[in-house]
Amino acid sequence: MGAVSRAFQYQALPMRVRFGVGSIADLPAEVADLGLTRVLVLCSPNHQSTGQLVADALGDRAAAVLPEARMHVPVEVAHRARALATELHADGCVAVGGGSAIGLGKAIALEHALPVVAVPTTYAGSEMTPIWGLTEAGTKRTGRDSRVLPASVIYDPALTVTLPSALSVTSGFNAIAHAVEGLYAPDTSPLLALMAEEGVRAMTTALPPIVDDGTDLDARSEAQYAAWLCGAVLGATTMSLHHKLCHALGGTLDLPHAQTHTVVLPHVLAYNAAAAPDAVAALARALGTTADPARQLWDLAGKLGAPQSLRELGMDQNDIPRIADAAVASPYANPQPVTRDGVTRLLRAAWAGEPPHPIPNQ
Ligand code: NAD
Repeated sequence: MGAVSRAFQYQALPMRVRFGVGSIADLPAEVADLGLTRVLVLCSPNHQSTGQLVADALGDRAAAVLPEARMHVPVEVAHRARALATELHADGCVAVGGGSAIGLGKAIALEHALPVVAVPTTYAGSEMTPIWGLTEAGTKRTGRDSRVLPASVIYDPALTVTLPSALSVTSGFNAIAHAVEGLYAPDTSPLLALMAEEGVRAMTTALPPIVDDGTDLDARSEAQYAAWLCGAVLGATTMSLHHKLCHALGGTLDLPHAQTHTVVLPHVLAYNAAAAPDAVAALARALGTTADPARQLWDLAGKLGAPQSLRELGMDQNDIPRIADAAVASPYANPQPVTRDGVTRLLRAAWAGEPPHPIPNQ
């Protein structure tokens, strides 16, 4: 790309990030800096001890712990959390956990405009985005709203050592997917492209040592650094075919979030590669290869023991047509035209666990 042809817009998002092993100790100061005096601590049911640890560290500034965060934020849970925030006169939330806990904080912020401090413990990246999601009667709605962007994010890699190996890998691929789609997004920009490339490099470097030893703090730091970069890319760009497909698979069939991203990503990248040469070049640099990045990512997922088929995630082959319908239902930007035939072929390969098939530029 020549300098003359380069034109872009870039909007920095207002938030503070504190990063580093042990940075959870900064949480009380961060909450105080934001002027918060009564925060509601949010976490998942099986992460209650971490929620309590955070509340204890906050002392009087913690009003209560609500250990009810669930995948895709069911509206009933959001209603309960909002009611509790009102009842307690909470003036903010601290969400500790993965995308589910942070998503619940966002659901409160969406209605009550309370500031959220996010303490992410997976690599999903929700903490860096103004994107919210709510699920009602099996249908997930999402939107962008600046009120739900966390005011502060504390990344403490020590909190991620308990993330099981399998979830570490798939959550890492979830982050990589944000970077891949950010590289060919219609609103990408030079800074975001650098962040995406570095995010993919750091995550793919970190995952093998994490699988060998989940307590390796250097590797955990590298992975969370990558999650920050990839999440920031997601927060600033428009999503394309990959995220639309995963949204349909998760929302309609309730397939597990990170695992679905891991299976689908190489197939979407192969689908788009011929129409996104700059993205492919950046990914090849990030992966340190001259080979096809889609195939490299598929091989890496297999080597790290991640699922490689939608079938093993519990998807019925007969559901392929309705997911393909959902993917083409409304238009959105994507490097290759999104056709029903093309998406059906992609889904068949992903369902069966075949290697990704490149398609020619259309
Ligand atoms: P999650 O938050 O549901 O966490 C998965 C499981 O891992 C949970 O049981 C949780 O308790 C456990 N866990 C989390 N951290 C752990 C740790 N350090 N040690 C041990 N166990 C731990 O899953 P996720 O993949 O982080 O997030 C997925 C959700 O986030 C989905 O609903 C997805 O739609 C949403 N999401 C939203 C955005 C956005 O920008 N809005 C971005 C990414 C994901």
